Amino acid sequence: MREADWRRATELVLGASEVALVCHVAPDGDALGSMLGLGMALRRAGKRVRASFGDRRFAVPRLLRFLPGQDLLVEPAAYPAEPELMISFDAPTVDRLGLLAPNAGKARELIVVDHHPSNTGFGSVPLVDPSAASTSMLVEELLGRLGLPIDRDIATCLYTGLVTDTGSFRHASTTPAVHEMAARLVATGLRTDEIARELWDRSPFAYLKVLGAVLDRVTLDAGAADGLGMVWTYVARADRAAYCLPYDECEGIIDVIRRTDEPDVAVVLKEDDEGAWQVSTRSKGKVDVGRACIAMGGGGHVRAAGFTSHDPPEETIARFRSLLGPSASASPGPST
Ligand code: 5GP
Ligand code: MN
Ligand code: MN
Repeated sequence: MREADWRRATELVLGASEVALVCHVAPDGDALGSMLGLGMALRRAGKRVRASFGDRRFAVPRLLRFLPGQDLLVEPAAYPAEPELMISFDAPTVDRLGLLAPNAGKARELIVVDHHPSNTGFGSVPLVDPSAASTSMLVEELLGRLGLPIDRDIATCLYTGLVTDTGSFRHASTTPAVHEMAARLVATGLRTDEIARELWDRSPFAYLKVLGAVLDRVTLDAGAADGLGMVWTYVARADRAAYCLPYDECEGIIDVIRRTDEPDVAVVLKEDDEGAWQVSTRSKGKVDVGRACIAMGGGGHVRAAGFTSHDPPEETIARFRSLLGPSASASPGPST
């Protein structure tokens, strides 16, 4: 990352009285945590802050509702059409801003805080570092450069980005710098046990029933990816309807499927309430799922990526399977 970009970013933020924040659609812990963490710090510094994400159905996922700072959120319709200063979080392309992509196009200045290797370089000030384990690591650095303190609420947001994107400090992206940042955040007094419970241990009983149905049809395709193998399953709308399970309760199913030892690749296709299939893919590192997902119209990292499909699961899987190839290097990229 260029020192000049850091300097330009701090200059723009310190000089602004109003800042508009945006993160990628269907926000995860890193996207929303990074945005709300910086948002709270900027509000405390006396700035008018509005934050949003461009989903057609605007709702914070159930497991992220514990994050502080949600009073900063406004619906996309209430978002400034031509912001003076806009900052985007965890989005590699302007398309990932969904309904708010046009606002980003009209912003006078757009600071892009991101860690995806596939980042296209959009925006006027790129704070993009693919070696960072989470976007929230870059937010911590930005706050330091702005001279703004990190209290327990801000730390809760940044820690959520760090712990979710590193898979609870298990993925290859977990460097000494990750643990050092975690130590600084935990020292503010945040409760790692409570955050973990909110994120992973509050599924409704219906989740177990749906998981049962989904595991019942899981398939191990040993021949996929030149014999590296793929395990996959799907969650249809009807599966969820049978137990009244909301779509966003199914996010963790990929983490169950990917526990399998035999295959390098794991895939879960989830049908949303509109009937589109959101596809989550993971690899142990020998296969580049990010490249295959880009070819399917999505994106992501070598080891964690996704795309949207409008075809039946078997057809989508057949096409995805044909695109799987080895990763260019065994480099340990960030995972989500
Ligand atoms: P997840 O499977 O957890 O939804 O997504 C894993 C990662 O894949 C995300 O962090 C993101 O980088 C990427 N990803 C998932 N879905 C999409 C998509 O539709 N488009 C793009 N560009 N990236 C996606
Ligand atoms: Mn993300
Ligand atoms: Mn991220």
